[in-house]
Amino acid sequence: MDPVIIVGAGPVGLTLALALARQEVPSVVLDEGPGKDEQRLARTVVLREDTAALVARLTGFPVTEAGFRWAGWRSMRRRQVMRQITFGQDDPAPLHLPQHVLTAALRRAIAAERLVKVSVESRLDSIEQEAAGVTAHTRGPRGTWWRGSYLVGCDGPRSTVRKLQDIRFPGRTAVERHAVAALRTELPWPGEALLHRMPPWRTSGPPVSEVTARPLAEDVWRMDWLLPPGKDLVTPDLLLARVRETLAGWCEGTTPPYELLDTGVHTVHHRLARRWRAGRVFLAGDAAHLLGALGTQGLDEGLRDADNLAWKLALAWHHGPHGTLLDSYQVERRAIVAARLRAADQALPVLRAGGLRSAVPGAARGHDTLLTDGHLGRGPLGSPGAYAESPLAPPRAESAVEVDTAVGAAVVDVRVTAEDGTSVALRDRLGRGALLVLLIAPGTVVWERKHWVTAGIMPRLAAAVTALPHRAELLVAEGYPGAPAHSVLLIRPDGHLVTVLNGVRPADLYAAAEAALGGPRAAAEAASSRA
Ligand SMILES: Cc1cc2nc3c(=O)[nH]c(=O)nc-3n(C[C@H](O)[C@H](O)[C@H](O)COP(=O)(O)OP(=O)(O)OC[C@H]3O[C@@H](n4cnc5c(N)ncnc54)[C@H](O)[C@@H]3O)c2cc1C
Repeated sequence: MDPVIIVGAGPVGLTLALALARQEVPSVVLDEGPGKDEQRLARTVVLREDTAALVARLTGFPVTEAGFRWAGWRSMRRRQVMRQITFGQDDPAPLHLPQHVLTAALRRAIAAERLVKVSVESRLDSIEQEAAGVTAHTRGPRGTWWRGSYLVGCDGPRSTVRKLQDIRFPGRTAVERHAVAALRTELPWPGEALLHRMPPWRTSGPPVSEVTARPLAEDVWRMDWLLPPGKDLVTPDLLLARVRETLAGWCEGTTPPYELLDTGVHTVHHRLARRWRAGRVFLAGDAAHLLGALGTQGLDEGLRDADNLAWKLALAWHHGPHGTLLDSYQVERRAIVAARLRAADQALPVLRAGGLRSAVPGAARGHDTLLTDGHLGRGPLGSPGAYAESPLAPPRAESAVEVDTAVGAAVVDVRVTAEDGTSVALRDRLGRGALLVLLIAPGTVVWERKHWVTAGIMPRLAAAVTALPHRAELLVAEGYPGAPAHSVLLIRPDGHLVTVLNGVRPADLYAAAEAALGGPRAAAEAASSRA
């Protein structure tokens, strides 16, 4: 089989290449650039728990060391503190890091990966699809033809792949614009991210309606000032005045010492590609969607695209294409991003209207909740979402029970015992192409594995797992939020919950696994190639 062609070595393309390699699928990453990233401290990303775990798993790189976990969140309106959150065990902190640190970690991992080939200074300019594969042409010093099994356009907002496939990209331009600066300084709330609406100090130039300060490692802060609608240029003088006035406003009138490290303008567009799949060609990341207003993170969604697509392409690569499975990528991911964009579109006029509407009693608190949700990855604006209407969802079995995680949502991380007896994090077992079957068996931790593995329901469950239509790993946990003892969770390779059964139900488990693989045909293909 030919490798998967990935166009674009941005964070999404690199993540996809690694995720495919972990599932034994070779890829070629084509990029028009030189293969090095500009070191820009003003271009950062806030990763939520799931995407931070994905990057850590793929790179083996402790992103927590290069990134910065916020100690807390504080939102203010004029002089009033509206909300203060301290992150801890039950409320994990977002991870904030410069984008070039993220891509450098991905590139390092790829350099050690035999299944990924990166070709720089290779600009894609044509794609031809045939029944059995894809041919792509690149120009540049290494201009040549490339043969692939599938092709994924991770080539950013101006995606050539999207244009070559004639896929429309409707939406809105410049929904929000921010002047951005990265600077090293000490603020009165070390390590806490701050959102300040209607700051009370006098400003030169147009008034500031909203400013955020989000900490990075080593006393570096990324600051964003919301710009008024329009295309007015942000002059260096105006930006410097903003920096000084804002720092003075927060530090009792005196600008503290600071070192300006980077500046820029971040313009947020809202766009959604009409289709994310055209035969053997797919779109992911900024090529498929643009979002980012109200603190939401476009790159976070791009990483989730890569995670969702990787195991489906891996299954198709190893066992042959399956329409339902491959179509489910667009159905699942596009629905989540569309819902996120709808939520932002509804919130934007409310939040940005000002005037009389914001004087309605309680409005300020409601606005604060919306913005906090966006920034912290919660609620309709920010939470990762569940693949509720997925074509891969199994029909509800009579033996199905509910746990705290909704069907279609990502499972939470718990300690599990693997088949070899080691105790590992559930998340570490994801992304290997196998389904996961997790038995909840309280008390197993106090028994040696050799005693319980042959006792009670274990042998029957092990036999049911071996008989599944696809490779599956059997895991055991002491508990899972909301799960009754002896319930069995079926989890996809990307960590989304398929179903929970109240005990060992081989037929129901088989049917759920079959549905999660796209239906009987893919299941049969997978089973026959195992034999
Ligand atoms: C100042 C600034 C601040 C930002 N802040 C945030 C933030 O806080 N949070 C957030 O989530 N996002 C932020 N972003 C946006 C974020 O950087 C993008 O969402 C992210 O880079 C998208 O990743 P991607 O891999 O999809 O695409 P990209 O990073 O755009 O990568 C696309 C790659 O494709 C290559 N390419 C393009 N066309 C071709 C072709 N024809 N052939 C071969 N290669 C091609 C390009 O060279 C590039 O390497 C910010 C952006 C800027 C500029």
